[in-house]
Amino acid sequence: MKTSIKAAVDYIKNYSGRKIRIMEVCGTHTHEIFRLGLRELLNENVEIVSGPGCPVCVTPPGFIDEAVELALDHNVTICTFGDLVRVPGTEMSLSQAKAEGAKVKIVYSPQDAEKYAAEHPDEEVAFLSIGFETTTPSSAIAVKNAIADGAENFTLLTANKTMPGAYEAMADYADAFLYPGHVHAISGIADCEKMLEKGASGVIAGFTSDELISAIAIVLKKSEEGKPFLVNAYPRVVKADGSPEARALVNSYMEKCDAEWRGIGIIADSGMMLKAEFEKFDAEKKFGIEKRSGKTNPGCRCGEILKGVCKPKDCPLFGKVCSPEHPVGACMVSNEGTCSAYYLYGNK
Ligand code: SF4
Repeated sequence: MKTSIKAAVDYIKNYSGRKIRIMEVCGTHTHEIFRLGLRELLNENVEIVSGPGCPVCVTPPGFIDEAVELALDHNVTICTFGDLVRVPGTEMSLSQAKAEGAKVKIVYSPQDAEKYAAEHPDEEVAFLSIGFETTTPSSAIAVKNAIADGAENFTLLTANKTMPGAYEAMADYADAFLYPGHVHAISGIADCEKMLEKGASGVIAGFTSDELISAIAIVLKKSEEGKPFLVNAYPRVVKADGSPEARALVNSYMEKCDAEWRGIGIIADSGMMLKAEFEKFDAEKKFGIEKRSGKTNPGCRCGEILKGVCKPKDCPLFGKVCSPEHPVGACMVSNEGTCSAYYLYGNK
């Protein structure tokens, strides 16, 4: 172990400052912190909770209902990442819709979905476009490709989101954020600076064990100084201005909208939807699908888990009727979900 990392580990283990609650707002951070055993380093004064950083987990059930309606009532082929297929909607998941005859195809990127549409002009094809700043540019590229290919049978069902509104909504639930490095590789650090102006502390963190250990140690050290702080602990990837090219690409095709986050509700201007000039690629508009909220299983506590106010083991369904094989809520479905992480790594 390098000396500086060993010193950071010792500092975390021996931290004796005030009680602190750190919120990681990234599904990959959730799983890496568990996988690397970093929670074992923390004493009782330090709590790490997961925020709304898993794109599948924050997608509301109404979005699944819309996808099911597209597939079953409009005979649209749904292209999606694998996780979404098992997320329960109000009545059914996409995998249950598939059993009822829906065409559901797993793809690895929006571009793959567009390519499938271009190769199957006799089918209507919709890609379920979810994700944050990191993944939304790929959906913009898919629309760009559809225009180039003349694929008029390709649409996006959008639930893309941006993080700043979620940070603001979560500011009262944590003493400091571990900001997701890949999001800020795109958006830069201005959003975190705005949070700092509002008194919210945070460290932009990478994903290796050394980067996560350093970021946690910085949070603890800085918090001992007693004033709000912001540190970019991932400077090899996160530049002050992020990626203007990726943002320009997205802004060519999409614009801000209000968005519903599972368990949190509507956050103004936190979504991205296709601009009116590209509405023929918008599945809701093309097929007259109404936006709706949908309903979750009343026993599921995903909403509270996404705010860090309860832990998966506080959910009465955890590990009993809800498991990765039989998920009742979205947080148990995705590899990045908090319930899934607690289940896989021992409920701690
Ligand atoms: S354990 Fe299952 S039912 Fe409970 S909150 Fe997590 S996903 Fe929802």
